[in-house]
Amino acid sequence: MALKNAEAYKESLRSLNLKVYAGGERIQNIVDHPLTMPHVNSAAMTYELAHDPTAEDLMTAVSHLTNKRINRFTCIHRSTGDLIKKVKMLRMIGQRTGTCFQRCVGFDALNALFSVTYEMDAELKTEYHQRFCQYLRYIQENDLMVAGSMTDPKGDRSLRPHQQADPDLYLRLVKKDRDGIFVRGAKAHQTGIVNSHEMLIMPTVALGEEDRDYAVACAVPTDAPGVLHIFGRQTNDERKFGTIDQGNARYGIVGGEALTILEDVFVPWDRVFMCGEHRYAGALVERFASYHRQNYGGCKAGVADVIIGSAALLAEYNGVAGASHIRDKLTEMIHLNETLYCCSLACSSEGHPTPAGNFFVNPLLANVVKQNVTRFIYEICRISHDIAGGFIATLPSEKDLLHPETAGYIDKYFRGKDSVKTEDRIRVARLLENMTGGTALAESMHGAGSPQAQRIMILRQANIDHKKNLARALAGVTTGC
Ligand code: SF4
Ligand code: FE
Repeated sequence: MALKNAEAYKESLRSLNLKVYAGGERIQNIVDHPLTMPHVNSAAMTYELAHDPTAEDLMTAVSHLTNKRINRFTCIHRSTGDLIKKVKMLRMIGQRTGTCFQRCVGFDALNALFSVTYEMDAELKTEYHQRFCQYLRYIQENDLMVAGSMTDPKGDRSLRPHQQADPDLYLRLVKKDRDGIFVRGAKAHQTGIVNSHEMLIMPTVALGEEDRDYAVACAVPTDAPGVLHIFGRQTNDERKFGTIDQGNARYGIVGGEALTILEDVFVPWDRVFMCGEHRYAGALVERFASYHRQNYGGCKAGVADVIIGSAALLAEYNGVAGASHIRDKLTEMIHLNETLYCCSLACSSEGHPTPAGNFFVNPLLANVVKQNVTRFIYEICRISHDIAGGFIATLPSEKDLLHPETAGYIDKYFRGKDSVKTEDRIRVARLLENMTGGTALAESMHGAGSPQAQRIMILRQANIDHKKNLARALAGVTTGC
């Protein structure tokens, strides 16, 4: 089974023994529960499109391990062409789902670990890379969805992991024996984890000698004994029990994040890819983060295509599509969105091979992508609200739209252009409202790391000394370092 389709993916989730809590109760069936179903559908798109002949080139790749055709979300990038295809694929899926489809986090974790385990082995004579390749083969052959599990809860941000009052606030090694290791802690903001098969655990910060027990990378099934997921609530959750008010009922809004607890979970050695080698934690974090920041001018550009389309439709429904200020605002949105996309393509085409042979993005440009997303998506959303009009904030609920006493009035007084059904105008407004508010916006700010994390990387990567030398040469001065 190299390439699962959407149905096979959903069936495979049904057979997991996941422990998921949401809204104060245990969810038995995440595939059909209203709170989780849209996220399952969105991730399922990554499986469905792999069988679409028009999308096959972007959605699939050939495994360098087995030579078989595999889903691109499980592949190791072998060229800058692969990195570019990744961005194009993400934009395409963003356009189809209008939301996060979650599978990229594990994809990025696989590529980051592929290169870092190779470098560890070369220097330390460990056998992590070989183990990792065995695991990768298992993921590829079974077309599994992997959650990239990096973010620790972090407690007091001014303290290192070993200095925390509660040592479990960063995930850590608690015991090791002949068969494997035991880990304890939690991973926060876990995108797509309740509908993933596996979680790939990595450290969340660079670590020193005293933090060596926190230098753990390993793979754990999402339903392993001792693993529990607490699903996060989202803006407008109660609307998930209806249809129109959700805006994007089929695919939901953002990724469906959870807090995942690991209570002394056993991990056999063949699934352990770092255990105490603290000097490599920083490299792993930076590599993973850069890969994930590369993505945001792909997936978010695809999602913003839908936002721009919604704003343009509402302008049409409101009868103002021809107004020059509307056309100018749409132009501004497109300009911002294509800037995001350009930057993702640029950091991909400026990629380079690692010693392990897989390709890595240009990390400076990848961090610029994500920094731009923290601003441009907000601006795109702001302009979309400007175009749409205030009714996206004051619309009655779909229950009133269906109630015999109020339905007629809503139909009459919420009509825009007479040729457009009122319900259509409401549906597009709800789509825009849900895509541009609350949880969806915050994800653009903090997903793949908060803005300050990118600024640190941008300054570190930018080579200011080189720029000073340029200035010195042209100014004809010799002072300064
Ligand atoms: Fe993928 Fe984008 Fe979701 Fe991250 S936010 S998992 S890159 S779709
Ligand atoms: Fe994200």
